[in-house]
Amino acid sequence: MSDTYEILALKYAENDRPASQNFIGGDPHDRSMPLDYFVWVIRNQARTIVVDTGFNPVSGERRARTLTTPVNVALAAVGIDGADIEHVITTHMHYDHAGNNDMFPNACFHMQESEMQFATGPCMCHHLLNHPYEADDVAGMVKRVYAGKVSFSAGDSELFPGVSVHHIGGHSRGLQCVRVDTQRGPVVLASDASHLYAHLSSGRVFPTCDSVADTVFGYDRLMKLAGDVGHIVPGHDPEVMRRYPDFSPQTVGMVVKLDVDELPMG
Ligand SMILES: [Zn+2]
Ligand SMILES: [Zn+2]
Repeated sequence: MSDTYEILALKYAENDRPASQNFIGGDPHDRSMPLDYFVWVIRNQARTIVVDTGFNPVSGERRARTLTTPVNVALAAVGIDGADIEHVITTHMHYDHAGNNDMFPNACFHMQESEMQFATGPCMCHHLLNHPYEADDVAGMVKRVYAGKVSFSAGDSELFPGVSVHHIGGHSRGLQCVRVDTQRGPVVLASDASHLYAHLSSGRVFPTCDSVADTVFGYDRLMKLAGDVGHIVPGHDPEVMRRYPDFSPQTVGMVVKLDVDELPMG
């Protein structure tokens, strides 16, 4: 059996904001520069993996993010019931990546040791560092640890044939990206190692940041892992929905396919 995968990006929310909120040091052209919010699905005949679980609607509303499709509804639209999922990769535990864990009662969660240490250690005594986390999401993950349902990596790890995680840090201490073999070659889900294409292309950094240096070196790492900038998928860029083809006529504006080439620029 071939160990290449289909990859889907499921957009579940959005947030309009000025560009200055997306870069340390602001932006000289401070026009609107919205973010999209995604969960991702990696699947083939042998397995289905969900990457990140989105924010729960209560924490999203408190943070004034616009929920466009509840995560369970988006998953159902591509034929997935969370109860059937055996593996979730958590890129990092920020509120918009690690909510809704109860949607996946039977899953093993795969994350970096350093993310758990960061999210439960002394840095979380400081609002500046803890504000992207929800204590309830982190506590839920701790309960999973005690239930034997979390698998930790420290650095790089091939979780399944053709699916590997790679520690990058930078944005959060234990952030990992996901590299997936597909019919078009490797595709790297950057998650928040690069929120937008603009971060990668201009070497600038998103304001939520544990280490500027690790973030910038992370861009080089993403490039090495992907081999080509067109094989890197940023974590929050609305451009992803325009660059890639729709999954189906029923999911226009909600789900695109990342395992196929980008659409020709039109
Ligand atoms: Zn984040
Ligand atoms: Zn994020």
